[in-house]
Amino acid sequence: MFSKYFVLTISFILLMGVTPVINSSGKNSFNENQVYKLNPSFEKVLQTNNISYELNDKTSMRILSEYGAMFTSQSGTIVPPYVIFPDEASVSKWQATVKSEQKKMSGILVVLQAPAMKALIAAQTEAHQHKLSITPNGTTASTRSYADTAKLWQSRVEPGLNFHLGQKHITPKEAEAIRKLSPSQQIPEILKLEAKGYFFSKSLDKSILYSVAAVGTSQHISMLALDVAEHSNTNVRSLLARYGWFQTVVSDEPHFTYLGVTEDKLPSLGLKKVTSGSRIYWLPDIEAINK
Ligand SMILES: [Zn+2]
Repeated sequence: MFSKYFVLTISFILLMGVTPVINSSGKNSFNENQVYKLNPSFEKVLQTNNISYELNDKTSMRILSEYGAMFTSQSGTIVPPYVIFPDEASVSKWQATVKSEQKKMSGILVVLQAPAMKALIAAQTEAHQHKLSITPNGTTASTRSYADTAKLWQSRVEPGLNFHLGQKHITPKEAEAIRKLSPSQQIPEILKLEAKGYFFSKSLDKSILYSVAAVGTSQHISMLALDVAEHSNTNVRSLLARYGWFQTVVSDEPHFTYLGVTEDKLPSLGLKKVTSGSRIYWLPDIEAINK
């Protein structure tokens, strides 16, 4: 008996020593003293798709942790070659190489990769049989350009800088230096300020990443994402899941991602199930561990 409890206690202490600090709670840090550990299946998916990543690049690792589930997309889809697209040209060049389809739904033009569109239409057909509907949530519900993501990013950075200037969290010189950077260069600087507790979401109390996607990283760029108007209906969510559409960005409630497999296959792609606010999200299994 003694040895059993001893082993349990030691295991508990060991577990406590590697507490993950990225927990999708909305207030996680961007700590210089973290190392990242990728689930081997997720790592394999990145390698198979030739996506270059650097375990020491904290910005990329943080972005992968939050939005990276789309890189596991199957059933004939193509995933972006970058964790963070560097500029407008790289996005338009890549989007032009991907086979997409467009269809007007409730008066809104929806553009998606062909397999994602096919699955969506099949889900809508079944939804109609059950007197349900699946429609886009707004005019920018599907594919977006780099400029769209840059505009959204800026709409959080600028008010955030002004607020933190007013609170004397940053100096005018620091704010000016950030403004002069390109949007993608701003990402690590904003995340560093957030690590000090100076947040940039719209409500200024959580990370900017829970408010808008970092510039050049939105899943909408990949043409595999759709914001769904009927997202709060449980039957709609489970129907979409049966057609390969899952929720993969915590706290982004209307947002669905086409992964192209059934739910039981998701762990084998290196994704983990996260429950938040009665919703199920599937995120890359990446652990940030304090050194
Ligand atoms: Zn979305």
